[in-house]
Amino acid sequence: MYTPKLRVAICGGGIGGLCLAVPLSKQAHLQVDVYEAAGRFTEIGAGLMIWSRTWRIFELLGLAADFAKVADSEPNPDVGIGFNYRRSDRPQGFHWNFVSMPYGCIRFHRAHFLDVFVEHLPPGVAHFGKRLVSYERRAGGEIGLTFADGTHAECDVLVGCDGIKSVVRAELLRSKAAEDARPELLKLIEPKWTGTIAYRGLVPSTEIPSRNGAKHDTLATPMMYCGQNKHIVAYSIAQGHIVNWVAFASEPEKDDTDYGAEWVKPCSKEEVLQTFSGWESEAVELLERVDNPTKWVIHHLHPLPFYVADRVVLLGDAAHGMTPHLGAGAGQAIEDAFILAKVLEAAAPGEYRSSLKSEKNGLHYVTSTLDAALAAYEQTRLPVANHVLTSADESGKMYEFNSPFAEKYETLGPAIKGQWSFLTASTPEGEVDKAMGIFQGIIQAI
Ligand SMILES: Cc1cc2nc3c(=O)[nH]c(=O)nc-3n(C[C@H](O)[C@H](O)[C@H](O)COP(=O)(O)OP(=O)(O)OC[C@H]3O[C@@H](n4cnc5c(N)ncnc54)[C@H](O)[C@@H]3O)c2cc1C
Repeated sequence: MYTPKLRVAICGGGIGGLCLAVPLSKQAHLQVDVYEAAGRFTEIGAGLMIWSRTWRIFELLGLAADFAKVADSEPNPDVGIGFNYRRSDRPQGFHWNFVSMPYGCIRFHRAHFLDVFVEHLPPGVAHFGKRLVSYERRAGGEIGLTFADGTHAECDVLVGCDGIKSVVRAELLRSKAAEDARPELLKLIEPKWTGTIAYRGLVPSTEIPSRNGAKHDTLATPMMYCGQNKHIVAYSIAQGHIVNWVAFASEPEKDDTDYGAEWVKPCSKEEVLQTFSGWESEAVELLERVDNPTKWVIHHLHPLPFYVADRVVLLGDAAHGMTPHLGAGAGQAIEDAFILAKVLEAAAPGEYRSSLKSEKNGLHYVTSTLDAALAAYEQTRLPVANHVLTSADESGKMYEFNSPFAEKYETLGPAIKGQWSFLTASTPEGEVDKAMGIFQGIIQAI
C-alpha cells in the first residue's frame, strides 16, 4: 500500500534550519523542503564558537570530520581554555579568571560553518527567494504557506527556523492568543532590546603586534576583556589567520526596551575607539585595526511557554533567540534540530495524518505519532533552551560587573564558569532517550 510521505516545510535556511534539513532528508518517510528568504544560504557576522556538547552532536550526525576541517584548530577532548578573563577598563589591566573545559572553545568562520551543512544537503531540498509571509491551517490538517513572491506551498508540519524576527512565531502566538483567549501571548512576539550594542570586526593575525616578545593573548586563547558596562570578546578563527572581536557596550537602564531603528549597520572606527577609550592597550589595539566595523543591536526573546502548536514548530532563534554571552544560540539551535530529527524518525508513516486531537472526559489527547513526536520535542527542548536563554543574559551582566557578584572576583569567576553547567548537565544521547521516553509515554497513554 502506498503511504504518502510526511511533508516537512522548514522555513529559514540558517544554522538551525540546515542542521534539521540534513538528517531529515535522509529519512525515507519524509519529504523535506527548505524555504529560504534570501537568494542563497548565507551567514552574516564572522566568528562562531561552539562547545563540546555541540561537537558530540556533530559526531552523532556523522558531520564531525567535515567540521574538523574548517575549525580554527582540530577539536580534541583535552581540557582547553574556554576564555581568559582580564580587567581591561583601565590602562593597566590584569588577568582575573580562566574558564576551562574539555575541548575548550571550538571556533569557526561562520561562512565555513554553514557550508558544511550545505554540502550535506541533497539537491532539490532548498528553495531560494521564498520569504514566508503567512500560513493557514486547512481542513484535514494541511498547512498552506504563502510567500512574498506570491507563490504557495503545502506541508503537514511547518518548522519555523526563521530567526529571532520569526514570522512563524508571530503567527503562532497570534493564533494561540485568539484561540485560547490569552492576550498576554502577544507580548512575546517582538524581541526586546537588551540595552546592549555590539561592535564587530575582523583583524588579519599578521597585523596584530606581539606583546613583550610574545604573541598577542588573542592568538593564544579566546579572550574576554571586561569592564564596567562593557566587554570585548576576541578569538582567532580560520586556522589562526584572523582574529574576530565583538565589543559590547551596555546601558543597563535600557534593558527590555524597544530599540526601533535598524539592528545591523556599519559604523565608524572612531565610534568604537571613543566607546572604549581609556581601556588597556592590549584590547584597544585590536579595535584600532578595523576600519569598517559593524554595529549590532542585541535583542533577545522572553522565554516562550510553548514551541509547538497544531503541527507548527519553532526551532533555534525563532523559539529562543538569546544574547551571545554564552556562545550558545547556534548550539541550542543545533540541539533542537538533533532532537526534532530523532523524534520525527519515530513518527510512524501513515499514522500522522489522523485527526489532531481527541477528547476523553473533557480532556484533549494527541492521537497521532506525529503529535506525540512534536510534544516530545517540545517537552525535551523547551526547559533547557529557555534556561540557557536566561543564563546567557545573566552571564553578560557578570562580564560587565552588573550581577549580584559585582566585582568580587573570587566568587564571580566560579559563578561565570557555573553558567556553562548546562553543557554537562546531561548528554545529547541522554536527551534523545528522554525525548523517546516522552514519545512512548504519550503513545501508550492514548
Ligand atoms: C554578535 C553575535 C555573536 C554570536 N555568537 C555566537 C556564538 O559564538 N556561538 C553560538 O552558538 N551562537 C552565537 N550567536 C547566536 C547565533 O548566531 C544564533 O543563535 C544562530 O545563528 C541562530 O540560528 P537560526 O538558524 O535559528 O537563525 P538565523 O541564523 O537567524 O537564520 C534564519 C534564517 O531564516 C531566514 N528567514 C528569515 N525570515 C524568513 C522568512 N520569513 N521566510 C523564509 N526565510 C526566512 C533568514 O534569511 C536566515 O537564513 C551570536 C549572535 C550574535 C548576534
